[in-house]
Amino acid sequence: MSYLVLARKSRPQKFDQVVGQRPIVKTLQNSIARNRIAHAILFSGVRGVGKTTLARIMAKAINCQAERTERPCDNCPSCKEIATGASLDLYEIDGASNRGIQEIRELKEKIRFLPTSSEFKVIIIDEVHMLTTEAFNALLKTLEEPPAHVYFMFATTEIHKIPITILSRCQQYELKRVPAKELYDHFGRLAGEEGFDIDPAALSLIVREAGGSIRDGLSLLDQMFSFGEKNIETSDVVEVLGLVNRAVLMRLTKALLEGERSDAFLCLEEIFDFGMDIKRFMEDLLDQFRTLLLCKIEGCAQLIDLPQEELLDFQGVSENYSSETIHLKLSLLMSIAEDLRFSAQPRLTLETSFLKIIEATNVVPLSSLLGQLDQILPQLTETQSLQKQAVKSEATEPLKKKKSLETNHLKAPEKPGDSPPPTSPSPAPPTDKPAADANEAPQKSPQSAPSQSEEAGDTQEITSSKKSHELEIHPNEKDVRKDWPQFIEYVKDRKVWMAQDLQRADSAKQEVEGELHLTFADAVNCSLLRQKENHQLLTEFALDFFQKPLKVKFTVPEIDDTPDANGDDSPHKKRQQLANDPLVIMAAEIFNGQIGDIRIGPRSR
Ligand SMILES: [Zn+2]
Repeated sequence: MSYLVLARKSRPQKFDQVVGQRPIVKTLQNSIARNRIAHAILFSGVRGVGKTTLARIMAKAINCQAERTERPCDNCPSCKEIATGASLDLYEIDGASNRGIQEIRELKEKIRFLPTSSEFKVIIIDEVHMLTTEAFNALLKTLEEPPAHVYFMFATTEIHKIPITILSRCQQYELKRVPAKELYDHFGRLAGEEGFDIDPAALSLIVREAGGSIRDGLSLLDQMFSFGEKNIETSDVVEVLGLVNRAVLMRLTKALLEGERSDAFLCLEEIFDFGMDIKRFMEDLLDQFRTLLLCKIEGCAQLIDLPQEELLDFQGVSENYSSETIHLKLSLLMSIAEDLRFSAQPRLTLETSFLKIIEATNVVPLSSLLGQLDQILPQLTETQSLQKQAVKSEATEPLKKKKSLETNHLKAPEKPGDSPPPTSPSPAPPTDKPAADANEAPQKSPQSAPSQSEEAGDTQEITSSKKSHELEIHPNEKDVRKDWPQFIEYVKDRKVWMAQDLQRADSAKQEVEGELHLTFADAVNCSLLRQKENHQLLTEFALDFFQKPLKVKFTVPEIDDTPDANGDDSPHKKRQQLANDPLVIMAAEIFNGQIGDIRIGPRSR
């Protein structure tokens, strides 16, 4: 027997062999079983999805001699006749080459007579949209009152070109592109039957290239089989079909998103070396970005027709970027595709445009900016209460504190590399301290200056000088003060609420060896943390993270236990409150400035 291309060899002969189109197949089967077959049926859809195949199966089923539910049996004389193309009652007409009124007249002449060997005459017109208007008009009358012994099956890729008068007289079936998964299974099975061992990634590539068309996929598969190797690898497919490896495309996509110029240019070089058609390459690249964007849109995963592992790949990549960023870069790419069409120097156009895309900075969605602000605000209020406490303790033990602070001021210049305190967003060094209210406040003292960074910085320097020794002795241990933000992140990965509660702590210190002191201004903020099991969990987290046993202790100070509580009205207090106002602090942070003179009252002052 002579060589048959796969597409013909593997053409389905019965309904259950059809790949994809399950709902349509079911409906057609039911219409046969219940003997309610429309006299004119129109199959539409893109090329190679099985329109003509379904029309032929229907032709068989209509004339099959088996039980209605078993049709077509592919075994009775009628089925065999049709399968071998020997049937005199099946007319297959190609609309593209038989499009005139004369051909339709001849056809009408033929169907006037009763069928010869079968029960019905079946006319299949492929590419029916190619018929001329006159031909359609000639057909119209027959479709309006079709003879009882005639069935029409039409197939078209361009349903919009068919006159509405014809459409309204047909039962219409719109065939879908065959999902990647079904193609994958089908092609895999065929390859096995043909004795080929095909690498899953190579098969995925063929499925992708098929674009939902069985026929396209089968001819690619045929090409691969002719290649000669019994084991088909991805590289073979890439070479034989002239494709850009998906891995290179993915690398380029990431480079464009990450802003990696060199990587993007290297990928481009690879693609050019390969001699890839530029238009095709742009299509693939756009498709990459489109898929990434779809991954970001909730509930759109089913729109992405990819094998599972590739889908997971895309989802993994898309997680690293905001949908705004992907969208922006996709729009830029689309404008390149436009430019490329008119470019005499496609490579140069691509390179300059890629630079433009890389320069386009990542877009941060407004919602996430607002979220960040929400996170900053509690920290600011924390800082504020920290300062309040510092002022309180200062009032109770002014001498001791003053002493320690003074020594710290002396120490400060010796360790400029000391990291800024985590709670203080402003990196103002202590030496730049503006003696803001020194001029105005009568009860001035060096440690009551309004700059919040300074206060926090001082207290932290005390602990850090002590800690640095311990760090040298136990290099694996972490420092409570310095690594506190990382610890919160660590907890956040495990227990989000706990991290949030820890963030509400006004301070976290290791004052005594082996004890972690958490100070909360408000007992409510740590009530959950203090519950036995949570307390235990927190202790374990601390042990895991800091690599040293720490007893977690909570300090919840009384609110109104200091004389300052009543003295809020003093001019100094008022200024201090102002300086500590979250809005003021935020403004200082945004403008990267410091709080200088503070004046209250009418402008004249
Ligand atoms: Zn049959």
